[in-house]
Amino acid sequence: MKISTDYIKTITQTGKEFDSRSHELLIKAGFIDPVASGLYSYLPPGLAVLNKIEDIVRTHMNSLGALEVSLPSLHPKDHWLQTKRWDSFDVLFKVQSRHDKEYGLGPSHEEIVTPLAAKYIQTHKDLPLGLYQIGTKFRDEARAKSGILRGREFRMKDLYSFHADNLDFEEYYKKVIVAYQKIFTELGFEDVKMTEASGGDFTKKFSHEFNVLTEAGEVDLIYCAACDFAQNAEVLTTKLTKCPKCGEEIKEGRAIEIGNIFDLGTRFSDDFKVKFKDEQGRPVSPHMGCYGIGTSRLLGAIVEVNNDKNGIIWPTSVAPFHAHLVNLVRDDSKFADLIYRTLQSEGISVLYDDRSEVSAGEKLVVSDLIGVPIRLLVSDRTGDQVEWKLRIDEKTRMFSVPEVVKHLKDAYVI
Ligand SMILES: [Zn+2]
Repeated sequence: MKISTDYIKTITQTGKEFDSRSHELLIKAGFIDPVASGLYSYLPPGLAVLNKIEDIVRTHMNSLGALEVSLPSLHPKDHWLQTKRWDSFDVLFKVQSRHDKEYGLGPSHEEIVTPLAAKYIQTHKDLPLGLYQIGTKFRDEARAKSGILRGREFRMKDLYSFHADNLDFEEYYKKVIVAYQKIFTELGFEDVKMTEASGGDFTKKFSHEFNVLTEAGEVDLIYCAACDFAQNAEVLTTKLTKCPKCGEEIKEGRAIEIGNIFDLGTRFSDDFKVKFKDEQGRPVSPHMGCYGIGTSRLLGAIVEVNNDKNGIIWPTSVAPFHAHLVNLVRDDSKFADLIYRTLQSEGISVLYDDRSEVSAGEKLVVSDLIGVPIRLLVSDRTGDQVEWKLRIDEKTRMFSVPEVVKHLKDAYVI
């Protein structure tokens, strides 16, 4: 992608105040565009990152054996009346058609997926069944804030599982926890805290939340400095100073919730009268679980924990481009053009700052702001070599073009 013709915009000065670092950087670097409070457009590099995040999530859902579906966002009112959530689900967007039909805009899809699963589940042999989708969700938030960290329309992966009994559900639940941990590690998070939480509107049974520590978060956590103990501070009745698991010091911090998993029991299968025949031929309600990951929120959370004063520092797994090529040769782009074409022909994605009217200083500022992990630079000083620099440090190295190709392929496993 050439910045001169294909990149929509970067903004170094907005004159605006932002309520989170990710909000500011994603707008300035041209990844998202604000439409209204809680509503954003994803521009090409933002969409590229979102797609990479969702591909990683999809890979791990598929390895659980879950089947991908796409469920509608418009939910008929009678489905929500059946679960008695039409009036009680406080953030449900409600819309009315010209023909006096009412719909909810899906914030979650139990009301759609449960009657769907009922059509597949006849006997215990049809279980377990896992159905998931990656799509758009809506929440009528009183106050949207922090950019894509808390929007009114957002992207989410939601998985629903159906089981013959509680034991089978618990085994599946543990497997999902492992899959989630793999996803978060692959996305570059070093320290995701899993907390046990009350199920909110979903269920009174147990549930877990996955949290990333950052000041932009809205969850108060206490956690152990040495082991994996973590808890939501709100639910605590007494103040802890020592970890109940290992006795080490307890710390406090703010966090963003990036995923959650719930034991739904048979609440929704009972509401929709879903039954399967067990081994003795008796009708039984399947045990359900639901498992969410906010993929657009993950994009924001990744930026919250991967930035410096100059801009974003993308983890390689979700970088919008493999390399950012900057041409600083005065009035000549032949060598940079050649590098650009060579890398593209090798399957390497390149953001190429080919602008001739922009100063060297500004090109470097923009490169740091956008945050591609590897910067390639050619100038009057570099001759037939290319200056290679990682976004995360100041060290530079000189490589020939074939060496650049090799090192990029190694870095991204291309
Ligand atoms: Zn501990």
